[in-house]
Amino acid sequence: MTIQPSENPGMIGVDCSECGKIYEIEEFRGTAFEEIFRNALEKERWCPECREKIIAEETREKAELAERLRRTEFKANLERNREAMNLPRYYVYDRQTGELFKEPPCRYVAQWLWRQRRAHVLLSGVTGTGKSTSACYVALKLAEELQHHVKYYTLGNLLSLWRSARKSEDPEADLKFLWRIFGKTDLTIIDEVIGKARISESGQELLFDILEAVNNGECRSRIWLLGNFYSGSIEAIFADPEPVRRRLQENFNCVRIDAEKKQIVKLEVYKK
Ligand SMILES: [Zn+2]
Repeated sequence: MTIQPSENPGMIGVDCSECGKIYEIEEFRGTAFEEIFRNALEKERWCPECREKIIAEETREKAELAERLRRTEFKANLERNREAMNLPRYYVYDRQTGELFKEPPCRYVAQWLWRQRRAHVLLSGVTGTGKSTSACYVALKLAEELQHHVKYYTLGNLLSLWRSARKSEDPEADLKFLWRIFGKTDLTIIDEVIGKARISESGQELLFDILEAVNNGECRSRIWLLGNFYSGSIEAIFADPEPVRRRLQENFNCVRIDAEKKQIVKLEVYKK
């Protein structure tokens, strides 16, 4: 340790053990604690700049450790987390091995969805093109890595929940229901939007309310609509399809899976 006199009374200069720069500390020599101070300073002496850097580094390391622990915990409680997100088992676990998909079953679809994590999406594809497995794979990753709050529904699930909410005496049941979907969720996946039968009038209303809430910004959650949106499918669901098409076109990234070319291609829903 280098000790230099200082112009400031009661102070001395010492060399920083990190960068070697001389900085000032209180004179400790000749005090009752001289030996203790000297021993401590021999080990490490940090100038204000180095101290700031070292503390910032320690804070970053602590945060990193906490983040690693959180991820480990997420994996340890995976089943509970999967259930809380409503993700179906068969979209999360590999049916052959019974283990979690290590790789997304349709990588290009999952990669595209990951990039769309802050967007509203309409993803069309025929059965077996990997819409649901990819969406569920990305949902788990978003929850694990970015702590996103994700919920998965099929349109059928959603409609039956909606029907029970409307049966209750509570006049605000509708609003509370929508708030449950939009209020506390970062991403809501609605799968199997296109079914065989035309959906009920109240179901159409619900879907339209969701699109409208997206449109006017009330919907905090991102919405991913999955289904086989064949040409004419919007008309098949909605008695009044024009406003639906417009809201989809304006607010959603509408695409379809081209399984042959392994590509995601733009889908025109507004054009007939
Ligand atoms: Zn220093």
